[in-house]
Amino acid sequence: MATSKMASCIFCKIIQGEIPCFKLFESDKTLAFLDINPLSKGHALVIPKFHGEKLTDIPDDYLTDILPIAKKLVVATGAKEYNILQNNGRGAHQEVGHVHFHMIPKPNEQEGLGIGWPQQKTDMDKLKAYFEEIKSKV
Ligand code: 5GP
Ligand code: ZN
Repeated sequence: MATSKMASCIFCKIIQGEIPCFKLFESDKTLAFLDINPLSKGHALVIPKFHGEKLTDIPDDYLTDILPIAKKLVVATGAKEYNILQNNGRGAHQEVGHVHFHMIPKPNEQEGLGIGWPQQKTDMDKLKAYFEEIKSKV
């Protein structure tokens, strides 16, 4: 199994079977299971079997395995509206330091993910200047 383990990591322990989970799907590179404190019925996590804290720490071949599995969870739960969420860093609401993608059904206003969307005012000149700065680095 292509697993890189970190001894203190709770999700690495789940991958190794040292901590139980309600496993929904598994491939050689990915594990999907129910979130223990769901925001809604069907809230699940999809994680790479590779320890890394943030998206940029995970090899591409692990990342490409993840979205098709999140899609399977959407189909299996029958969720009609849902969010795919991946937090990076404490300030961005990450609590577990092993990359994970949430699949969170949004059945109604009260359940599922609630988010703020604090849009900032900008103008085309500022937007274009930033675009010029970043595009060559992508
Ligand atoms: P984060 O805030 O890091 O994006 O989300 C971490 C998620 O992992 C939370 O939704 C939390 O409920 C879930 N979680 C934390 N520990 C465990 C665990 O031991 N088992 C399972 N199944 N989920 C967990
Ligand atoms: Zn880990």
